[in-house]
Amino acid sequence: MKKIKTLQCIRCGKDHKLTETKYNCNACGGNLQVLYDYNLIKKRLNYEVLKDNPERSIWRYLDILPVSSIKNVPPVQVGWTPLYRAEKLGAEAGVPNLFIKDDGRNPSASFKDRASAVVTARALELKEKVITTASTGNAAASLACLTASLNMKTVIFVPETAPAPKVAQLLVFGATVIMVKGTYDDAFELCLKATDEYGWYNRSTGINPFTREGKKTCSFEICEQMNWETPDKVFVSVGDGNIISGIWKGFVEFHRLGIIERLPQLVAVQAEHSDSVKRAFESGGDVQPVSGATIADSISVSLPRDGMAAVMAIRDSGGFAVSVTDAEILDAIPRIARGSNVFAEPAAATYAGLLKAVKEGRVKENESVVLLISGNGLKDIQSAMQSVGKPYVIRPDIIELRKLLTENKLV
Ligand SMILES: *Cc1c(COP(=O)(O)O)cnc(C)c1O
Ligand SMILES: [Zn+2]
Repeated sequence: MKKIKTLQCIRCGKDHKLTETKYNCNACGGNLQVLYDYNLIKKRLNYEVLKDNPERSIWRYLDILPVSSIKNVPPVQVGWTPLYRAEKLGAEAGVPNLFIKDDGRNPSASFKDRASAVVTARALELKEKVITTASTGNAAASLACLTASLNMKTVIFVPETAPAPKVAQLLVFGATVIMVKGTYDDAFELCLKATDEYGWYNRSTGINPFTREGKKTCSFEICEQMNWETPDKVFVSVGDGNIISGIWKGFVEFHRLGIIERLPQLVAVQAEHSDSVKRAFESGGDVQPVSGATIADSISVSLPRDGMAAVMAIRDSGGFAVSVTDAEILDAIPRIARGSNVFAEPAAATYAGLLKAVKEGRVKENESVVLLISGNGLKDIQSAMQSVGKPYVIRPDIIELRKLLTENKLV
């Protein structure tokens, strides 16, 4: 692929040809990032071309993705999710210029579809027969969904604790599901060993350099949907750190292509006991393992697999990190729903991070803020039910109904 210049190690800087490695740096084991021939791309991808492009999916950005053609991509719509102005929610937070990017609207109901689509397209080009991933649930559900009708076997490793709706997705889409008695980190290591032993193609976050390429498309969309204006801040929930580093790469690339003039600040939102990236960012030290325990399963990570890139994204954007408690995460779910009509899963409750940042005086009232909603609330209803009351239950009888409505002051 002529448009790709190098796979460059984010740790030691070593360049690799596309044919030289499928995964990490072959000198230091660091994560790789794809760098393109931006002068070449500039000729094909610019404001004029995008403005007239009717494609409503991530493939409108094919010129800057590591895929040769859209002949061989999953046949469902990934990306081009809505960006809403959230007036009521914004007023409640004291941030009138608030926007919601609803990535729960993807085929498998999470942001992970952006990465899985690109990695699956890549696997098809490489003629891989078996694709595998370790996941807390969403990356797996996404991969299972996007490969379902393709001529490819999909083997999934998830922790035993993955929420039932995500497991249901895996089974419905026909993946081979291996539940590991352990954490996400345990599932990750086992998936790596299986990849080595059986020669499968591994989509896992922080291993496969192409996941970030899919994830960056969200930033391209935000720029277009905001009419080529850059928001002041983008709030992103962080586990492994691949989404936030992808979001950053997207803005940087559009800036480099001259499509936008300004870069946003990124705010990482982490759960209080799964805050490894926040700690590394604030201390300036290495990314160290933490307990990872949180109700927000999608951001429950002991050792972030793309932590270094995440720290660089926060730092380079001039942003910051906040951590939130499980109680704050749960509390944010009905608030987001009632303030913006969007049902978010716990890990997607970036609103909790916004409230904290506002309280700490780190967001100014006149700033434009985008909250990334990375997964749909139906992904984990057990958690959502903890944050709301119970329904009324009565017999089908009008007298009983009258009594209920009067007693509870509902009329
Ligand atoms: C995976 C995921 C995240 C976190 O992304 P990382 O790349 O692991 O930081 C956040 N929210 C949802 C819903 C996810 O599925
Ligand atoms: Zn290296």
